[in-house]
Amino acid sequence: MDIRFDGKVALVTGAGSGIGEAIALDLAAAGATVVAADLKAEAAETVVARITAAGGKAVPASGDVSDPGTVAKLVETAMTQGGLHLLVNNAGIGGPSAPTGDYPIDGWHQVIGVNLNAVFFGLRFGIPAMLKSGGGAIVNMASILGSVGFAGAPAYVAAKHAVIGLTKNAAQEYATQGIRVNAVGPAFIDTPLLSGFDEATRQWLIAKHPAGRLGRAEEVSALTLFLLSDQASFITGSYHLVDGGYTAL
Ligand code: NAD
Repeated sequence: MDIRFDGKVALVTGAGSGIGEAIALDLAAAGATVVAADLKAEAAETVVARITAAGGKAVPASGDVSDPGTVAKLVETAMTQGGLHLLVNNAGIGGPSAPTGDYPIDGWHQVIGVNLNAVFFGLRFGIPAMLKSGGGAIVNMASILGSVGFAGAPAYVAAKHAVIGLTKNAAQEYATQGIRVNAVGPAFIDTPLLSGFDEATRQWLIAKHPAGRLGRAEEVSALTLFLLSDQASFITGSYHLVDGGYTAL
């Protein structure tokens, strides 16, 4: 199956690291022009340099996606490249670790801001742009923690569950207007997001995956590109796991 995105413009948030970086690289390798957006301008520029060096097309963009004005500008940047056809609302943070009864209020707002509000802003500004561009496909990066809980991560779990609901709603609303919206649910993927875990925690996490290892960013990217492609033309409003069997236990 040869997936190509020639002539399409993609906006990927959180493209400076981990899963977003893999998706940006793979989309560009498949012919898309990628707006690689990240909070860290330098990280976005590094990814764009890698894409350009490999013969692909990309432009860097920076800003905090928990701010609606920033997301509106990212969408405008995509439109200056010829439209918006593919959108990956991927930026996310882990947030503090504490049980619900002790969870820091500012940490709650931060996690909901980046992991949920930013996904809404992506849809809010991305969908009208996509309609103007003749339609397209959207992937919202959820998590296995969009369907199961994880002690100590109430904000993250709540945000990811909500992303799946938001995905279903938007999919229903735009299904006959040429826009598909899906969510992806990775288990624990070996990216800088997990860098705060010590070795014992890492081994404990690995043991939760029947596959006996953590996932790789490229494995999440492969599923994301499939869902963005015309090969997935009848798939919308659904949540797709890439979890090494985590939720089968
Ligand atoms: P990562 O930390 O490697 O990369 C996340 C990127 O998002 C970073 O480059 C960061 O600078 C950027 N970012 C953070 N806050 C931002 C903001 N406010 N505005 C713009 N950019 C911002 O993490 P990752 O593992 O690649 O995670 C990507 C997505 O996948 C997240 O939504 C995460 O919740 C989800 N996810 C990750 C895992 C995992 O185990 N790594 C599992 C399930 C889901």
